[in-house]
This record gives sequence, structure tokens and C-alpha cells, in this order.
Amino acid sequence: MKIICIGRNYLAHVKELDNALPTEPMFFMKPETALLPEGEPFPYPDFSKEVHYETELVLHICKTAKAIDEEKASEYYDAITVGIDFTARDLQSRCKAKGHPWEIAKAFDYSAPIGKFKKISELKCADDIAFGVKLNGEWVQQGHSRDMIFSFDRIISHVSQFVTLNEGDIVFTGTPQGVGEVHVGDRLELFLEGESVFGFRVK
Ligand code: MG
Repeated sequence: MKIICIGRNYLAHVKELDNALPTEPMFFMKPETALLPEGEPFPYPDFSKEVHYETELVLHICKTAKAIDEEKASEYYDAITVGIDFTARDLQSRCKAKGHPWEIAKAFDYSAPIGKFKKISELKCADDIAFGVKLNGEWVQQGHSRDMIFSFDRIISHVSQFVTLNEGDIVFTGTPQGVGEVHVGDRLELFLEGESVFGFRVK
């Protein structure tokens, strides 16, 4: 499986990192080794001094999608959860300054913890999905899918023009504002429509 991640999909987050507004979805990838097994802590990587959480809605791809139209895109994902796109912000800033790829800042081991998936058909409010993260018991990020610049359907259609999506692939759909640092000893808990879907510690 592969992990596709959309960047810069919420206006307030684009502004907080002083990035340019995208005119089409931009994406990067993480390998399967970025997943965090349930029950395991997130090991703070020794190559960074500034690891940020980015809390995102994550789609589950349910059949092969290649060059699909936006109007048909909703047939290709069936479930959703919340995940963290962990980012070594210090390394990312260096990559951006040099015009280099981001992989060392984004694709490292355990950089993509995700919660338990819920069927889209079982959501309380599929038109505006609420999600967020608590850091040590306090809300630090809360988002709503209606604030996305590019919709799920636009994202799936766009990515599938370049990369075939297979059943079991997952798609991170971008973070709202409020990204911030984690530290050793922190506990993060992810919420989808008010329900906890995953929790883990940073060690
Ligand atoms: Mg992100």
C-alpha cells in the first residue's frame, strides 16, 4: 500500500506557514513504514529538533482508481479516519530553502499514525466532517472538512491522473491551522466527529 498526502489544503494553514496558495492539489507520498502500529509509542526521531503534528482526515481507497473523473471519484473511497502527518519542520524548512524534495522531513518511520476507519456512510455529517487532536488532554487542532480548498473528489481525481490508486491505499487530505511541536512524553488523541479513534504517546 502507499500513503498519499495533500499539502496546503486549508487557507488558514497555508497562511500560518507563509506558503503560496495552490491552484491545484499538491501531493507527496510516505511509504508503508510510516504507519504506527496500534499500541506503540511514536519514537521521536533523533535527526530533528522540531517535529510538528498535522492532524488530517484520511481516506481509504476501496478500488483501483486511474485517471478518474471528479464526478465519479466518490466511488473510489469508502471509509475515513483521522491521522497525523508528522513533519520534521526544521528539515522541511531546509529542503524548501534548497528546492529539494521533502522526503526526509515527511516520510520517516512512524510519521503517519492513523486511527480506526469509519464507513463514510456511517458518518453523522458527511458534508462537514469535524475532526481534531488533543495534546495532553487539551484541544490543539480542530478542523472541518468544509474548509478544505480542494474537495475529496477533486483530490482523488487529481492524484489518479498521475498515480494509480489501489485498494488499501490511504490519502491524507491536508491539515487545518494550529500545527505545533510535540515533545517526548506527550500524549496525542485523535477525534472524528467527537469520537476518539486513536491515541498514542511520544517516546
Ligand atoms: Mg500535512
